[in-house]
Parts: sequence; C-alpha cells; structure tokens
Amino acid sequence: MEIGTIYLVGAGPGDPDLLTVRAARLIERAEVIVHDGLVSRDILAMARPDAQLISVAKQRSKHTLPQDQINALLVREAKAGRDVVRLKGGDPLIFGRGGEEAEDARAAGVAVEIVPGISAANGAAAAAQIALTHRDASSVVSFVAGQCKGLSDQDWTGLAGKGRTLVIYMGVKTAPQIAEKLMADGLAPDMPLAVVENAARPEMRVLRGPLAALPDLVTREAVKSPALIVIGEVTAREDAAIAHFAVEAHQ
Ligand code: SAH
Repeated sequence: MEIGTIYLVGAGPGDPDLLTVRAARLIERAEVIVHDGLVSRDILAMARPDAQLISVAKQRSKHTLPQDQINALLVREAKAGRDVVRLKGGDPLIFGRGGEEAEDARAAGVAVEIVPGISAANGAAAAAQIALTHRDASSVVSFVAGQCKGLSDQDWTGLAGKGRTLVIYMGVKTAPQIAEKLMADGLAPDMPLAVVENAARPEMRVLRGPLAALPDLVTREAVKSPALIVIGEVTAREDAAIAHFAVEAHQ
C-alpha cells in the first residue's frame, strides 16, 4: 500500500477568499482534514461531504490533543494510505508549529508538502489598511509571540520604536505585561498602536490607542482572541486616511 502525503496547509485569517488556490483545491478534494480551532467554519464547509474532519483545537487553557499526539495522528493516517490535509489558521510556519509537524513526518518517512497561507499579520494589515512598512514611517517589521510562557525572557529590544513596526501574536491575555515590558525597554508611552480583533472576518474590530493605554483598551473593549497588537507609527496613519475619505465622500 502506498503511503499518503501530509499537506501542511495555511488557511489564512478566516475569509475563504483569502485561501491560496492550492489550499482551496486540497481542501476540496481531501479525505481527511485535521484542523485547528482557528480555521473558520466557512473554510471547513468547502470540504467534501464525506471528508473526515478531525478537530485538534488548542486553547490556552484547554488542550484537546497534545502536539506529539497530533504529529502521531498525522503520520498514522498517512501510513494508512490516506493523504492528510493538516489545516492551520494563517500560515503554517508562523507560530503554527508547522515546523514540528514537518520534522516528525519526515523522521517517520512520510512525504510533506507545505502550502503557505496569509498570516494574521498580513490579513489584519490589509483589512485594517495599516501598512506594515511605509517609506515615511517604517522600514522594519517584526513578528513576536506574546503568550505568557517565557515572555519575560524574550529580548524584544529594538523591535519596536521609531521607524519600526512590531506585530504581536497571542498577546491579548498578557497585554499589561507586554505594555510594561516595552516601556521598560524605552518605548514611549504615547507610541501609537492598533489592536485588530477577528481580522479579515465579518466581526472584525480595529481599536487604537497609545501604548500606555493598552491594558485599559483591552479590558474596556473586552478584546477576545484571535487578535493582534500592532505597534508603531504606521498604525496612526489610517485615521487620517479615513478622515480624508469622509471629507471627499461628503463633497
Ligand atoms: N499561524 C497563524 C498564527 C497562529 S498563533 C498565522 O500565521 O496567522 C494564533 C494567534 O494568531 C492568535 O492568538 C492571534 O494573535 C493571531 N490570529 C490568528 N488569526 C487571527 C485573526 N483572524 N485576527 C487577528 N489575529 C489572528
């Protein structure tokens, strides 16, 4: 019997229109789809009616399947002769553990193909019209993970500030520690930021404020995951664009 292939596929930020053509084709023909909680229902609805959908949703407080068991599940399915689509929110190789799954699959002798997806940072930037780089405002963009584990050990010095954009994934719960850490590193309390919740989904919210007000903003607006925190001058430009547009629209 022939061994199946494991496809690590990026599902993008949620809107099915933001899938790559390759991802859409693989989802539509898959017999087995192993997916995360971040993959939207609209995307899962593209699967064949007889496809087997296996959720391995991971939440901060609740792990339905530990990572090594996910890896083992993928290898088992492939060795049973099935092609497996491992569907992940955003891009599989950005905070998606795609690297670990690919390593385990290769070690088990199973072929892996990786299909890139639009990462939350790109999806949020486009949907909220925030340029991650801009000739007048930013020539560096960094992606960091803001979850609790190891946060204080991470060295973010120089990643945020004038002429730079910092995008923080998984930072909602730790927003107070993040604001404190960045200001301790010398970032101005009035550095502008945007929180983009549910980027590229119908319920998207874009909230803005200065760095020092981040913890209050997250509490007051009851920001929920998935959300990104984008820090830098680029986040302060869109208000101007909207104001300009509003004036034009009224003429
Ligand atoms: N591989 C994914 C990231 C997974 S980590 C990617 O490339 O996008 C999970 C984090 O991604 C969430 O905590 C959140 O910070 C971010 N995220 C994912 N989808 C998002 C969305 N639609 N809107 C805002 N943030 C999102």
